[in-house]
Amino acid sequence: TRIYCSTQKPLKIGIMGGTFDPVHYGHLVTAEAASDLFSLSTVIFVPSGRPPHKRAFSVTDPWERYGMTELATCSNLRFRMCDIEVCRPGYSYTIDTVRAFRTAYGEEAELYFITGADAILEIMTWHRIDELMKECHFIAAYRPGYDREHLRDAVEQMSRDFSQRIHLIEVPALAISSTDIRRRLQEGRTIKYLLPEPVIHRIAERGLYVGSGTHE
Ligand code: ATP
Ligand code: MG
Repeated sequence: TRIYCSTQKPLKIGIMGGTFDPVHYGHLVTAEAASDLFSLSTVIFVPSGRPPHKRAFSVTDPWERYGMTELATCSNLRFRMCDIEVCRPGYSYTIDTVRAFRTAYGEEAELYFITGADAILEIMTWHRIDELMKECHFIAAYRPGYDREHLRDAVEQMSRDFSQRIHLIEVPALAISSTDIRRRLQEGRTIKYLLPEPVIHRIAERGLYVGSGTHE
C-alpha cells in the first residue's frame, strides 16, 4: 500500500470511503463538490475490503471494485486511489483507515471524510466514534429538496460536541445508487449515464452483476 504524497501546505485531504459496487456519478459528483467547496488538495477513494455493515450480503471482489473505481477516477487530477482497505485482511474500520492517513500526512493535515447525508447519522452511532471525530471532519452530501434543517437538528441532537465537525453540502441530481444499478443489470435495463462509460464496459467485459447474483 502506498499513500499519496503531496508537498502542498496546509494539506486538506478528502477521504471518500465506500463499497463502490459499482462506483457511479453520485460518488464522483460528491467528491468533486467537496473538493471544490473545501479547497481540498486531493480526494482519495478508498474502496472497502469486506465492509462490516454489509456483512450479510456478498459483495463483488474487492480488487474488481478497486479497478472500476480507478477507471472512474483516473481522469481527474485531484482524485487518487488508496488500496489500504482492499489489502487489509478481514473487516476494516474507518478509524483505522483514518489513523493511517493521519500517520502518513502528519498532525497539521486536515482530514475530511466524505459521505452521503443518509449515512452520517448512522456513522455517529459507530464504534469508536469519539476517536474518529478527533481525527477528521465529515462532509455529508444531501440532495436538493432534502430537509437541511431537519438533518442539522438531528446531527446536533446526536452530539453537540461533534456537530461542528460535520459539514453539510448540497449536491445535485443524486438519486443514483449502486443498488439501483445492480438491479437494472439484473433486469437487463440500461445503466447508461449513471456511471462512467469505461466502468460500464468493464462490467460488461467481466459479466458482473448479471445472472444468479449473490447481491440482494
Ligand atoms: P449501495 O446502494 O450498495 O448502498 P451506494 O450507491 O450507497 O451503494 P456506497 O459505496 O455504499 O454506494 O457509497 C459510498 C459513499 O458514497 C457513502 O458515504 C454514501 O453515503 C455515498 N453515496 C452513495 N450514493 C451517493 C449519491 N448518489 N450521492 C451522494 N453520496 C452518495
Ligand atoms: Mg449505500
